[in-house]
Amino acid sequence: MSTRAPAHAADREDRVRTEVAVDLGGTWLRIRTGPGETVRLPAPSILNRPGEEPAALLEQLIETLADLVPADARVAVSCGAAMDEEHGVLHGSGPLWGGGPDRPVPLRALLTARRPDVSWQLFNDVTAGLASFVERFARPGHRRVVYVTVSSGIALRTADLTERSVPVDAHGMQGEVGHLPAVSTAPAAVRALSCPCGGTGHVAALAAGPALPHVAAALGVPDPEGIRDALPDRLRSGDPAARRLLGTVVEPVAEIVRTLRCLDPRIDLVGIGGGYAEGLGDPYRAELVRQVGEVRSYADRGGAGEGLRLCRPGEVDPMAGAVALSRGALTVTKR
Ligand SMILES: [Zn+2]
Repeated sequence: MSTRAPAHAADREDRVRTEVAVDLGGTWLRIRTGPGETVRLPAPSILNRPGEEPAALLEQLIETLADLVPADARVAVSCGAAMDEEHGVLHGSGPLWGGGPDRPVPLRALLTARRPDVSWQLFNDVTAGLASFVERFARPGHRRVVYVTVSSGIALRTADLTERSVPVDAHGMQGEVGHLPAVSTAPAAVRALSCPCGGTGHVAALAAGPALPHVAAALGVPDPEGIRDALPDRLRSGDPAARRLLGTVVEPVAEIVRTLRCLDPRIDLVGIGGGYAEGLGDPYRAELVRQVGEVRSYADRGGAGEGLRLCRPGEVDPMAGAVALSRGALTVTKR
């Protein structure tokens, strides 16, 4: 419940604002008011309602949020979309709206118009994951911390803790590594896999969760469709085909970590999160550390496991990260 200051101090900034955290994904819209329980609703998305008009879905989203947040709340939203965080403008999200809307969505302005009493702050979900990871795992003396999400897509963000910033380019972007060409020693059939963006052989096409059955099929692993459920057991039993499959899907991520560390010696901590990597857990971590630690030249000095953390499920919470960002824990900075 919102609490207002006495009337003589009724300027909006003097009110005690109820803090609301929102996680906007393609499947679920999750809302947590203050320290309360998290409410989970099906997101008004093209993923949940195929065939619906993007404009109608957007209107539904605005109505739902406007109805649920209390008066004068301060709302921090983690958005599963490429976006300009400074202006609260979403550039698009396949799971939310498919190919549309045609133009960028000024979601913060639309929400403010509908509920002007509320302070709306919107952040990309990877940035929010980074803020949550930094809050939990960064230590005094860490200069740069990277958080990589390996789930339905792949992206990373780097925080510069010496200035408490997340630097972004003129479009508000940073670390969209999922659509770079994958570094892979796999057979040509794997490296030729198509990416949801339309490209070929991208990091996401090999190393994101939805790619697993395709990589399995390209490697000739039996029953590729059921591999996601079967992989943990097959890895535990030491199945060589499962081990080869794991090595193949980890490789592009390991190469990103290796490249990051090579180019920026100020990176003191790298976190790997996201449902896919977290779900595979210890075998994923062991393979990642093994690959990152391979000594290939005089430039490799070992110690790969140091400063590399595979998150466990629930350790990184984008809702908590969005709230931390709304309080100024890190500032998204355009140069
Ligand atoms: Zn791609």
